[in-house]
Amino acid sequence: MDLLEYQGKQLFARHGLRVSSGKAVTTVEDARKAAEEVGYPVVVKAQVLIGGRGKAGGVKLAADAEETAMHAGNILGMDIHGHTVNTLWIEHASDIATEYYASVLLDRSAKKPLVMFSVEGGVDIEQVAEESPEKLIRHHVDPLEGLSREEAREIARRGGVDPDVVEGVADALVALYEVWKAEDATLAEINPLIVTPEREVKALDAKVSLDANALYRHPENQSLADGENEDPIERRAKEEGVQYVKLDGDIGILGNGAGLVMSTLDVVAQAGGSPANFLDAGGGSDAEKIKQAVELILANDAVKAVLFNIFGGITRGDEVAKGLIAAFDEIRPSVPFVVRLDGTNDVEGRRLLQEAALPNVHAAQTMNDAAELVVALAAGQKGAEVHV
Ligand code: GDP
Ligand code: MN
Repeated sequence: MDLLEYQGKQLFARHGLRVSSGKAVTTVEDARKAAEEVGYPVVVKAQVLIGGRGKAGGVKLAADAEETAMHAGNILGMDIHGHTVNTLWIEHASDIATEYYASVLLDRSAKKPLVMFSVEGGVDIEQVAEESPEKLIRHHVDPLEGLSREEAREIARRGGVDPDVVEGVADALVALYEVWKAEDATLAEINPLIVTPEREVKALDAKVSLDANALYRHPENQSLADGENEDPIERRAKEEGVQYVKLDGDIGILGNGAGLVMSTLDVVAQAGGSPANFLDAGGGSDAEKIKQAVELILANDAVKAVLFNIFGGITRGDEVAKGLIAAFDEIRPSVPFVVRLDGTNDVEGRRLLQEAALPNVHAAQTMNDAAELVVALAAGQKGAEVHV
């Protein structure tokens, strides 16, 4: 569960990390009022769940009320890589002497928390990792011991920070580790962590992801989950009780059983495609449930083709086929569907699908065939001539 910058900063402040004071607003008028309160100059910042806001024009400095209103007006409603800006964060602008990078995340292969630090902050950290990996310090933490001050100082020294800010950076790292651990975050990142001309170390940006499965331990964070952080389709799926996770690609996926859906994602990726979602329809085969799932998948505009991967166990293939036919009769999808039916009563199921001759619906027998076909359809390489 990703948090907006200003929400991340609230968690930072809770654990003693320095941040600038500011206000979240949703109108130009409130932006102006907030700027008066925090004091000029201010920085007007788009609050969207995607990085690179600065480059996209979503972060602007304003010296007075007029500039604040102008930038707020421009940024509100702006589209940043597919995310519409509804909220602005207005904070007192900082003077910057140096920009660093710091993050804490879980390194699953090492089974340990990983602290990363670089004096090359403010830029894309993947680029630093690729072009000058020696400038990215990686330090694994013993999860039972936590990050000690001495370790934090050592990270700062190894990173090559100015000697007079070793203590300040160590403070920030210890606090960031505490945010990560105490809030059950999966990621806590600061880019940039700045040093001001007065040699104060503070977080100018915040990227925090919380573990949604641990939210029950943090009732005070519950409200963060209700807002605009959640993807609207994921929210709808949750309300409908469907296991759906939005992904970045253009091939909609549905399967029965979480394991099957996960391997479907892999097979589609192997065939050169990019899945648009995870959706586990469970053991359901009735038309109403399938209709609901199809509507969720198609609510994502990026979807160009859909793969249904059904393995009949207790769920019988012919029943699934009947459900599909009834659902598609009603929905009439505009993008092509590939349906792979295997398992109990699969032959009968495929026969029913063939007989129904639903436009835009293609049957496939194996998972690999289905994946290849759906990838080709999404790429627009095959048209209506595709058969069963
Ligand atoms: P991102 O582009 O989404 O990562 O947004 P950031 O919050 O990191 O801001 C982008 C850049 O804007 C930063 O790297 C800074 O260079 C600049 N910036 C942000 N806040 C301030 C500020 O208070 N003062 C100054 N001078 N620059 C700022
Ligand atoms: Mn940033």
